Amino acid sequence: MSAAGRPVRAVLFDWGGTLTPWHTVEPAEAWRACGLGDDAAARLHAAEDAIWARGRETRRSGTLEEVFATAGVPAGPAELARYHAWWEEHTYTDPDVRPLFTALRERGIRVGVLSNTLWPRAEHERVFRRDGVLDLIDAAVYTSEIAWMKPHPEAFRAALAAVGGIDPAAAVFVGDRPWDDVAGAQGVGMRAVLVPHSTIPAEQQRPVSGSPDAVVHRLADLLPIVDAWR
Ligand SMILES: [Mg+2]
Repeated sequence: MSAAGRPVRAVLFDWGGTLTPWHTVEPAEAWRACGLGDDAAARLHAAEDAIWARGRETRRSGTLEEVFATAGVPAGPAELARYHAWWEEHTYTDPDVRPLFTALRERGIRVGVLSNTLWPRAEHERVFRRDGVLDLIDAAVYTSEIAWMKPHPEAFRAALAAVGGIDPAAAVFVGDRPWDDVAGAQGVGMRAVLVPHSTIPAEQQRPVSGSPDAVVHRLADLLPIVDAWR
């Protein structure tokens, strides 16, 4: 648990496994979908794995451009379009999100997103726009645009700054990962809510001490918790 907080002024959300329900996928298939051949796909998959592993060790973020450069595979818009098209069916926003964001905003609470991602902002905004929620997000930080990823404190501080310089004690983080999301947010003084429905691979987990300030089994259940913290 975090220290007793101040009245909530902002709620920040993780993306994958939180705003979009968790899908267990085989990322190598996304790289094969680029149409660059099996050898290139294997190198791209290895490069992506290495960048995520580095992130877990050092909290340094990465980008899709870095994946292609590390793999030594040149790619143009057509290959990137096929890569994102493969992911399309795995990115749909939870139907609870639009009513939840609307209710938070009606209360004067800022809504933010902080995602550990290699993808560019344009792709995330396309997904949110497709699902009718982009206009309800006050600010989003995608780690492809900053130096650090969760659980590095600077990632959370960047998101707090983006939603208007909100005091961490007046902010809530909602995510599906106990280490990256919950412990990370609590580490900078935010309250943290866990959505425990993702099948997170063992190699991506780290032991955590402490516990979330709350657990919700669907996003619609978050509103009464935030109301109690107002
Ligand atoms: Mg997540």
